[in-house]
Amino acid sequence: MDGSFSIEAKGVAMSACGLVGLTGAFSGLRRMFSRREETPKIELLDSGYVSLVEGWGSDERVIEAARMSVDKGFLGWGTKDKPGDERLLSHLYRHRHATPFEMAGLIVEVKLPIFVVREWMRHRTQSYAEMSARYVPLPNENYMPTIERLIEGANTPTKNKQAQGNGKFLTEDEAEDWLYSLESVYRHAQEVYDDGIAIGIPKELARLPMPVARYTRMRASANLRNWLGFLTLRQASDAQEEIRVYADAVATLIAQRFGRTWDLYSEGRKGV
Ligand SMILES: Cc1cc2nc3c(=O)[nH]c(=O)nc-3n(C[C@H](O)[C@H](O)[C@H](O)COP(=O)(O)OP(=O)(O)OC[C@H]3O[C@@H](n4cnc5c(N)ncnc54)[C@H](O)[C@@H]3O)c2cc1C
Repeated sequence: MDGSFSIEAKGVAMSACGLVGLTGAFSGLRRMFSRREETPKIELLDSGYVSLVEGWGSDERVIEAARMSVDKGFLGWGTKDKPGDERLLSHLYRHRHATPFEMAGLIVEVKLPIFVVREWMRHRTQSYAEMSARYVPLPNENYMPTIERLIEGANTPTKNKQAQGNGKFLTEDEAEDWLYSLESVYRHAQEVYDDGIAIGIPKELARLPMPVARYTRMRASANLRNWLGFLTLRQASDAQEEIRVYADAVATLIAQRFGRTWDLYSEGRKGV
């Protein structure tokens, strides 16, 4: 998807000695930035998204890193009849020679409810930058599950106990009433926040009534190995649906950029 980043970056290095080259380099950089803006957001839940900020490396770079040990580089992908470096990639993956997969990665921007960010940030091998309600008000948006989500969660038996209800059948009317109450809690929380700001309560304290359903935004950066570790845990069926949909969106970005590594991951749904 973003293979041209590294080509353009090379263009910067190669042409830095002349004015014409520099102009080319700057237009390359401009293209890089405008491409970032064009990256479509993958929209999720009622107000969330995942978008690619930037990626680095590729399946080929993984091979290059592995071949450092024998002072060689990427030799080329093969065909069905004459396999090439896909064999090495597969060998690295299956035998958990994981460090070459750390030579590539992605930064994503994510808008997500606080209760999801709380699960996400347990992944210590990612780097994070999150907007802070100490400095700016968080968007006045709170996650509202759909009636279908509530009913399906409550009434579908699953081994995943925390994902189901108390055994009593949840009706559509009950679910609707509960959502109505939830909405009024959200509204009241915002009123208390706004009143606090209006009378001069510091933002860092005025935010106390914010529900864990409140949307926030963050950037998360990780190398390919650690993204796959994240996906292994968060695409799994025992992960909460609200983080699973984000993991699925990250997976789409990984699959677009690292197609061959993605295929290896997909075989067992397990990181390297
Ligand atoms: C379905 C599900 C339910 C969960 N429920 C709960 C819950 O009820 N309560 C709760 O508190 N958490 C819960 N978690 C969070 C879980 O315990 C992990 O904290 C989270 O999934 C991150 O996993 P990780 O440590 O492997 O990831 P990362 O932090 O990204 O680490 C990746 C790997 O790096 C290594 N590593 C990283 N840091 C260290 C370290 N300090 N020491 C040694 N090795 C390290 C480990 O090999 C680790 O597996 C849940 C997670 C899932 C997926």
